[in-house]
Amino acid sequence: MTEPLLKIRGLNKTFQTGKGVVHALANVSLNVKEGEFITVIGPSGCGKSTLLKIIAGLDTKYYGEALLGDEWIKGPGIDKGFIFQEPRLFPWLTVEKNIAADLSLRDPAVRAKVSELIELVRLTGFEKSYPRELSGGMAQRVAIARALLRNPKVLLLDEPFGALDAFTRSHMQEVLIDIWQKNKTTMIFVTHDIDEAVFLANRIVILKPRPGSIRTIVPVDLPFPRKKSTSSFQELRYKVLSEFEKIEELELIDSSGI
Ligand code: ADP
Ligand code: MG
Repeated sequence: MTEPLLKIRGLNKTFQTGKGVVHALANVSLNVKEGEFITVIGPSGCGKSTLLKIIAGLDTKYYGEALLGDEWIKGPGIDKGFIFQEPRLFPWLTVEKNIAADLSLRDPAVRAKVSELIELVRLTGFEKSYPRELSGGMAQRVAIARALLRNPKVLLLDEPFGALDAFTRSHMQEVLIDIWQKNKTTMIFVTHDIDEAVFLANRIVILKPRPGSIRTIVPVDLPFPRKKSTSSFQELRYKVLSEFEKIEELELIDSSGI
């Protein structure tokens, strides 16, 4: 058996706040295989962003183990791409220059890779456009291309389509699956949308809050591309939904002090 690409063992994370200690993650363990598409879902405040930031190396104050490949995650780096809810583009740079970022388009290898990525994210013809001329979905595709230019070992996405309208969002999910199938980049995608989690994932990691921990992991064996209207899709959707309802029941028991 091949070694997992990402290994997380007994991860614990607390925040010291004015109101006391917040236990954001408790004993989280997860292995992710190379090329796998993982979605992470759970109620607000259950530690999804915290988990992603630790994997990204943006937060290194944790207990437990986090390894990418053979290396301990000690800080951010080009091997870990990160996509936020908003695209965070440079407004004064064109699409192609945003994608190249600090690499020079005068380098033929960079130029070739940038144009390949522009095609991959379906932005051909918009190379010289500025971010203000793009729709929200197009801007997010620029951000994805920019992250992929560095050939990251893993692409981490924190509710990347959360600000988009429902139709654009569905389209972006299809585009992302196409990118993933062609590029084979390992993806860890945080969402609180059940349809999105089922549509994209090989496995869905369901988190529960207080403290943030893994409630269960649901494998999704549906072939790609998927259709949300099929009965097999709906069956999985109900399965995830019922796990959510169990979390809510536990929450009610917790708060009633039983
Ligand atoms: P999610 O992304 O699932 O909504 P987060 O990972 O952002 O949740 O937060 C998990 C918990 O940790 C929440 O209770 C949140 O209030 C707390 N938290 C997150 N970041 C900080 C921080 N920088 N300082 C204090 N508490 C934080
Ligand atoms: Mg979050």
